[in-house]
Amino acid sequence: MSGFNFDVITLFPKAFELINNLGVITKALDKNLIDVNLHDLREYGEGSYRQVDDKPYGGGAGMVLKPEPIYKAYQSIRKLPKSRTLMMTPQGKVLKQKDLARWSTLDQIIIICGQYEGFDERIRCLADEEISIGDYVLSGGEIPAISIINGLTRLLPGTLGDPDSLVDESHNSSLLEYPQYTRPLTFKDMKVPDILVSGNHEEIKSWRRQKSFERTLERRSDLISNENYKKSPQSKRIIKEYNQFMKFRIGNGYDIHRLIENRDLIIGGVKLHHPENLGLDGHSDADVLSHSIMDALLGALSLGDIGKYFPPSDEKWKNADSLFLLSKVIDLIRQDGWEINNIDSVLVAERPKIMPHIKLMKKNISEILNIHENLIGIKATTNEKLGPEGREEGISCHSVVLLEKK
Ligand code: SAH
Repeated sequence: MSGFNFDVITLFPKAFELINNLGVITKALDKNLIDVNLHDLREYGEGSYRQVDDKPYGGGAGMVLKPEPIYKAYQSIRKLPKSRTLMMTPQGKVLKQKDLARWSTLDQIIIICGQYEGFDERIRCLADEEISIGDYVLSGGEIPAISIINGLTRLLPGTLGDPDSLVDESHNSSLLEYPQYTRPLTFKDMKVPDILVSGNHEEIKSWRRQKSFERTLERRSDLISNENYKKSPQSKRIIKEYNQFMKFRIGNGYDIHRLIENRDLIIGGVKLHHPENLGLDGHSDADVLSHSIMDALLGALSLGDIGKYFPPSDEKWKNADSLFLLSKVIDLIRQDGWEINNIDSVLVAERPKIMPHIKLMKKNISEILNIHENLIGIKATTNEKLGPEGREEGISCHSVVLLEKK
């Protein structure tokens, strides 16, 4: 049985001598689990100097690898049925453990290593995937190629002594591994956690899951997806920490007030005139737009609704200016370390016409919230004479906000 084939196009084949001294990878070579075939780019160079690079068109520093030698070297490689070609470039997709796992079921990986300032653009089409090993620039593609050979080989059956060691490790299911200890039990006054010597395998498993999750939160919260959050231990502590690492929260707000006589009609801090002289009824000034935005802001942080903060039973809020209440709510949101990303509101009113006043409403709200008017959307619609808004029994407003952690 022939092993997994790596075919590497490189100007520095000697760099790959390293894999003869890499423990399990070297063993995999010895056991023929992998074959590493090196294709020296120099052999495909042009002219008596075997030229492989040239100056870039348009000028600029450094040399660029010519297309013909790479193309010829590529053509010389025998392609196996399940084969994929990877180009090493800092402009590629950043390598992830799941890529290695995906490739490990193939027969062959062809790797094209760059040097100098990189490749002539016209050889990009040879690659199925362009891969970077991280957001930094090395002098050549050899170390990235060796990283891929190394990472992929240890996933092949028969390479590692104990295949179970692949199950729990970092980046599987996007979590980092839990802390590991070996003998001695105490080292420089640091003791191995009791649970690991308790012999209780169930508890050890759950401790490890918990630590793995905590560690990922501390170090790489960017790896935590909703999917593995759902799989995480259900303790309150972790949920609290998870909230701390959340970058965005969305909130949805709704309010409706009755239209009656002898009341002002105030929306978004603007006094409107209803053709029947109707205004909005409520304990405060009944500004549905400000109320629905407050409701959405509080909702985004699971802080409850506005009634909780400004109860109608409290005389203090009688006829209160809702823009003032909004300023209180935004203080609360900012105290918690959040900032508004944007707001979108829709007012539902049969009459009066809202459109001519939207500009001023936006200005009022943007001043109170201290955010740019561009971040506030206010739209108005009628209810086509349907329902309470349509019958002019009331005016309602829906708002959505997105908060971002600062
Ligand atoms: N001027 C190029 C970088 C050239 S670095 C640019 O800005 O994109 C020279 C070669 O090293 C590249 O062609 C590539 O094969 C390899 N290389 C450098 N950094 C790399 C990285 N992070 N991942 C993969 N390959 C890299």
